[in-house]
Amino acid sequence: MKLLDGKVCADSLVADISRRVAGYVDSGLRKPHMTVILVGEHAPSESYVKSKIKSCENAGFESALLRFPESVTETELLEKIAAINADHATDGLIVQLPVPNHINSQNIINAIDPEKDIDGFHPTNFGRMTLGQKAFRPATAYGICKLLQFYEIPVKAKHCVVIGRSNIVGKPISIMLSNDFEIGNATVTLTHIETPRELLLDETRRADIIIVAVGIPGFVTEDMIKDGVVMIDVGINRLQTGKLVGDVDFENVSKKCSWITPVPGGVGRMTVAALMINTLMAYQNNFDLA
Ligand code: NAD
Repeated sequence: MKLLDGKVCADSLVADISRRVAGYVDSGLRKPHMTVILVGEHAPSESYVKSKIKSCENAGFESALLRFPESVTETELLEKIAAINADHATDGLIVQLPVPNHINSQNIINAIDPEKDIDGFHPTNFGRMTLGQKAFRPATAYGICKLLQFYEIPVKAKHCVVIGRSNIVGKPISIMLSNDFEIGNATVTLTHIETPRELLLDETRRADIIIVAVGIPGFVTEDMIKDGVVMIDVGINRLQTGKLVGDVDFENVSKKCSWITPVPGGVGRMTVAALMINTLMAYQNNFDLA
């Protein structure tokens, strides 16, 4: 078993980005700029936002963190997004999800200018990605592709099973890996909560690559997989002991895998790196550099 180390891969990608940024700055351009909106107090969001801001520093980007209280209204948030959309000095904008229940997250996502939508959640980017056009690709799914590419894991013609169909992970990664992309051309089965257990097992036991994003600790067990599978664990779950674990029973499953992502230090790191790639692309688009 070998580790698909998200930290090593992310550090390498961010170092490459920072070299490019240094070149742009040397030629007289401003630095790329990411703005993050954070609403309320949600411990996991605080930690995700912190790592995004830190990664901006490492990439040579400028960043701004705009905090709003839990009580902020949807209208106030939409006004702020409209102002940032109009600001030429901001290349990328993220609204950290989840937002409080009184705010409709889809309205928020839809309000972000697709050209600044570095999370890749806006319907325009999701549509472009699905059609195989140039797009900001959803960051976690894009990060997984970059990780597979970095470790030269064959994807073309492989049988890939995705467990979980969220708009931010399961759905986009199943589309991306089945598309005619550089990291793609797999045969993909997308499973979800209504997939009968026997059918799920039929699929996972034949899979060459499994990507699991369900949010249930220990969901994937050793009896569900064949020897040599590549296991991508997207889950981030905090146990009552405080320990962070994924959706895979790592100790037992890892013995059968050819490759597996650790949690933490796997897909989470790649999500942030993919955001940096998307921000650089937004910046290059702004200055016609690509
Ligand atoms: P979600 O929480 O929105 O939805 C869970 C999905 O799991 C649903 O699509 C559901 O159909 C599926 N599911 C639930 N039970 C199932 C079952 N028994 N069999 C098959 N499918 C089942 O999904 P999400 O937002 O993608 O989050 C999933 C996990 O990934 C969470 O732990 C989350 O914290 C984590 N996550 C990590 C990153 C990262 O960067 N590493 C990014 C996003 C989400």
